[in-house]
Amino acid sequence: MTEASIPQRMQELAQLLQRYNQEYYELDQPSVPDAEYDRLFRQLQQLEADYPQYADSNSPTQKVGGKALSAFQQVTHETPMLSLDNAFEEDEFSAFYQRIRERLDLTSELEFCCEPKLDGAAVSILYEQGKLIRAATRGDGQTGEDITENVKTIRNVPLQLSGDYPQRLEVRGEVFMPIKAFESYNQHALERGDKVFANPRNAAAGSLRQLDSKVTAQRPLHFYAYSMGVVSTEVNLADSHAGRLQQLQSWGLPISDEIKVVEGASAVTAYYQDILSRRPQLRYEIDGVVLKVNSIALQDNLGFVSRAPRWAIAWKFPAQEEMTTIHGVDFQV
Ligand code: NAD
Repeated sequence: MTEASIPQRMQELAQLLQRYNQEYYELDQPSVPDAEYDRLFRQLQQLEADYPQYADSNSPTQKVGGKALSAFQQVTHETPMLSLDNAFEEDEFSAFYQRIRERLDLTSELEFCCEPKLDGAAVSILYEQGKLIRAATRGDGQTGEDITENVKTIRNVPLQLSGDYPQRLEVRGEVFMPIKAFESYNQHALERGDKVFANPRNAAAGSLRQLDSKVTAQRPLHFYAYSMGVVSTEVNLADSHAGRLQQLQSWGLPISDEIKVVEGASAVTAYYQDILSRRPQLRYEIDGVVLKVNSIALQDNLGFVSRAPRWAIAWKFPAQEEMTTIHGVDFQV
């Protein structure tokens, strides 16, 4: 590539990624595998780093998700719902680890809360006086879609919190469709001549964004909480991420049972390897692990960049052949 052709290549990549974003986030119908999207995304990121003079502040590398559909009421998030930076190889995780230790001026090892990266759709659920009053999709990070009635149909989402909960609590987490439920849903859909979903992620996202909550109620969706959004101040919150997840659990919110706190980069690698080896046996699809600095004080110190926190990274698993076969019909995504 000559330098003269760089701005054009950057524009091509941006347009392509915008199209893929729309197919994936707004239509729930991706036309390329995630690995291909990630490859193009990284190419654009690299070009922007090498040639900042051509970088566009509206680039897909600076944005989160897709636009909220106008068929739904819009919800403005009180604090943005961001994405995560990615690592694909161990050396990328190590570089992240070193970078944040240097930024924090630490010589000791860092503690991480390690979680499976659930492959579904992000939601924000707001409780007031313990009662579920609103749920929204992430949308573009600032504005999401109001899917309150749909989320209320998910069986393991409590409509009423229990215990000593804060008067106002926003919970963030992932709605997903367990693999067995996805397979049997697709099989029945095929028999009925209905639309089948390419993978559990699309099934979850598509099922959540139904205009009729009776349709969502028939879909086998599940929820795990992974963080807090806005919280009123009358309850003391734990000073670690893992502690806050336990608080969420004590108020009745479900969390994954694969969450583990470890210290140091090699313990994180061991967690990654362990989950990767057990991936085929998990009841839900995951596309990697999410590693979060456990101390809230250190998280606050590290802060955010435009589309992601500096204190967390998604270490993605190698791409699987993204093919689903139902009754001899192949669905390639
Ligand atoms: P992401 O999926 O890489 O990471 C952020 C998301 O991870 C969060 O919003 C949350 O929903 C989810 N998550 C799951 N478990 C979590 C946990 N324990 N803690 C915190 N978050 C957790 O980022 P993204 O912005 O949602 O999506 C980007 C990815 O989507 C791309 O890397 C690509 O793989 C895929 N994508 C594919 C296409 C396509 O056309 N195939 C298009 C757009 C995006």
